[in-house]
Amino acid sequence: MAGGAVQQSPPGEEVAAQAASLFKDSGSPTIFDKIIAKEIPSKIVYEDDKVLAFRDINPQAPTHILIIPKHRDGLTQLSKAEERHKEILGELLYASTVVAKKEKLDDGYRIVINDGPQGCQSVYHLHIHLVGGRQMKWPPG
Ligand code: 5GP
Repeated sequence: MAGGAVQQSPPGEEVAAQAASLFKDSGSPTIFDKIIAKEIPSKIVYEDDKVLAFRDINPQAPTHILIIPKHRDGLTQLSKAEERHKEILGELLYASTVVAKKEKLDDGYRIVINDGPQGCQSVYHLHIHLVGGRQMKWPPG
């Protein structure tokens, strides 16, 4: 390459996050709506009237579960949270602890919420990643 500069392409998850962010404010349904409606299969590990938790299709750890509100109500991403969302935010976090116990992640786990393109968010329906079953590293990538 001219000038000796090495141009590196961003990794796939960054490209996907950039692409997804083009539609972040469109309000269009996401793949998670189909999962909630059970129109496409998922491995559900926990469900109540407000929250659904299912295994991530592309796990980054032995346990990798997504915890989502069944009713998105404008919560495309965490940074869109408003006063009215306080209750569901608490429900989601609490459900994460219930799922972690069910999954026997007794030695610890990590909770992640990716927000926006720089946070590498690729699905614009708020979700908590619960990852565990291996030693986590810090700082995250
Ligand atoms: P984000 O990148 O937005 O923080 O996380 C979205 C997550 O959704 C990714 O970890 C991705 O693997 C997961 N995901 C995307 N599509 C599907 C799907 O159809 N089924 C399941 N179970 N997970 C999905």
